Amino acid sequence: MSDTSCIFCRIAAREVPADIVRESDLLVAFRDTNPQAPTHILIVPKEHIASIAEIEEGHGDLLVDITKAATHLAKVEGIDESGWRLVTNVGAEAGQSVFHLHVHLLGGGPMGPVA
Ligand code: AMP
Ligand code: ZN
Repeated sequence: MSDTSCIFCRIAAREVPADIVRESDLLVAFRDTNPQAPTHILIVPKEHIASIAEIEEGHGDLLVDITKAATHLAKVEGIDESGWRLVTNVGAEAGQSVFHLHVHLLGGGPMGPVA
């Protein structure tokens, strides 16, 4: 299901431009427009899912695809050996500002503890 008011649905449908670095049947990955690290890529399912809290049994293939995309992109970005981080926020207090599931792939510089 795609939501015409959702910016990430619109990017996945290629209605809104983004710097897309990977695409599969299930996801797109594109560079964050406000990067918090030298590598900051968002991995986004094409299906509108509000957050990781909405993941259900049928989403197994999607979760594998997200993980494989992250591992592949970390290699392409040259951060596979130095280290990388996956972050997904759930809810406003955690910092979620776009309510379409996205996983941040971050790396390329030193990072502090998660919290
Ligand atoms: P979060 O705060 O976890 O919901 O993350 C949302 C992220 O989406 C932020 O890091 C924003 O910079 C990023 N973002 C918002 N709109 C766009 C866009 N049109 N293209 C790329 N990144 C975006
Ligand atoms: Zn959406």
